Amino acid sequence: MSTEKVVLVTGGSGLVGQAIKWVIENDNGRFGRKDGERWIFLTSKDGDLRSREATHAVFEKYKPTHVVHLAALVGGLFKNMKYKLDFLRDNLLINDNVLHTAHEYKVEKVVSCLSTCVFPDKTTYPIDETMIHNGPPHPSNFGYAYAKRLIDTQNKAYFEQFGHRFTSVIPTNVFGPHDNYDLQDSHVIPGLVHKCYLAKKNGTPFVVAGTGKPLRQFIYSRDLARLFIWVLREYDEIDPIILSVGEKDEVSIKDVADTIVKHLGFDGSYSFDTTKPDGQFKKTASNAKLLSYLPDFEFTPFDVAIQESVKWFLENYDKARTANMVRLASETWNEMITQLKMLVGRIYVKHGYLINSLLPAQQKRH
Ligand code: NAP
Ligand code: GDP
Repeated sequence: MSTEKVVLVTGGSGLVGQAIKWVIENDNGRFGRKDGERWIFLTSKDGDLRSREATHAVFEKYKPTHVVHLAALVGGLFKNMKYKLDFLRDNLLINDNVLHTAHEYKVEKVVSCLSTCVFPDKTTYPIDETMIHNGPPHPSNFGYAYAKRLIDTQNKAYFEQFGHRFTSVIPTNVFGPHDNYDLQDSHVIPGLVHKCYLAKKNGTPFVVAGTGKPLRQFIYSRDLARLFIWVLREYDEIDPIILSVGEKDEVSIKDVADTIVKHLGFDGSYSFDTTKPDGQFKKTASNAKLLSYLPDFEFTPFDVAIQESVKWFLENYDKARTANMVRLASETWNEMITQLKMLVGRIYVKHGYLINSLLPAQQKRH
């Protein structure tokens, strides 16, 4: 019987999936490729995991022994506020299909992905792994939060009823190469990188949503990837583990904007739109459990990680996920046409008599 590990990564084309692929292909030593492991990185084109049949077909095709489950409907604060039901339903369906099909195919281990967004809004700090179900999440993202919390409940149930090793990790806000740079629906770092880039290119103001005061812990996608690989190979608990930089590495949104401005070399006007929401003020998480397992893990300094991410964005602008560019361009165009029509209308109403008097007699309106 083959002892090869077949690791199926759902959501393999996304920010975290591509970082895992990069680490497997480029790191030497502990986190890099190992003999006896075959990695498969899925995209939604391999099958829509909201469908039970499509999920089965993927498992039937690859017969994974291990699953890293990343596929999800993902977005920043503003996308979460707009599509709460989609976040709840899509993620419930995807998670249930992946976990139950993994059960049916006798997968040895599944590592799924939660987020620090799922913790209760009203809580004590720092937040730790035991607090996930302690109270309602922040109202801005309850759809996403409840779907993700249920992964932890499902993992416990699969363990207690069947003895399966299905576990989960809880990363903080992730950023890095292959991020989603959509102008409206992305997370704060890729959103601001793209906005600052456009402000520099077009000589327009750089506007940061909210007050800039909220605090966040950010994790570089390649650091998270190394930790994910470690969890898959070595972490044996069913209970989740927070994958985060330390509490002292928490930064404000203004710090984030300043660092992006620095690395993009932007020297234009820069302001905060305080009419836009701040979301949860902070979600300070403890990485004590992680450090008890990996005391020597070295996180990439925030400044270096932003520099690398900005470099990737500039070098890959044409293929990066910047979907709203097309939409915004067409929205701007339509808006311009509407404005122009209204202007012509207004000019006619106000100065119609003048235009009329200039027309040849047969075209005059009476
Ligand atoms: P991402 O870049 O948006 O990638 C999402 C991935 O999921 C893509 O590969 C996408 O495939 C796939 N996917 C989405 N819907 C699918 C569907 N119905 N069927 C099959 N595949 C589908 O997301 P990410 O930032 O890498 O997030 C990965 C995981 O980390 C998620 O579980 C997320 O909740 C979690 N997480 C993310 C953050 C963060 O800040 N980004 C923070 C904490 C936790 P296509 O490319 O084909 O669309
Ligand atoms: P969160 O960490 O889950 O709240 O998600 P985000 O990555 O969307 O970060 C949200 C925080 O960044 C809020 O305080 C927003 O007001 C602030 N922010 C500032 N500019 C932007 C932006 O362009 N996009 C997003 N998503 N958030 C922004």
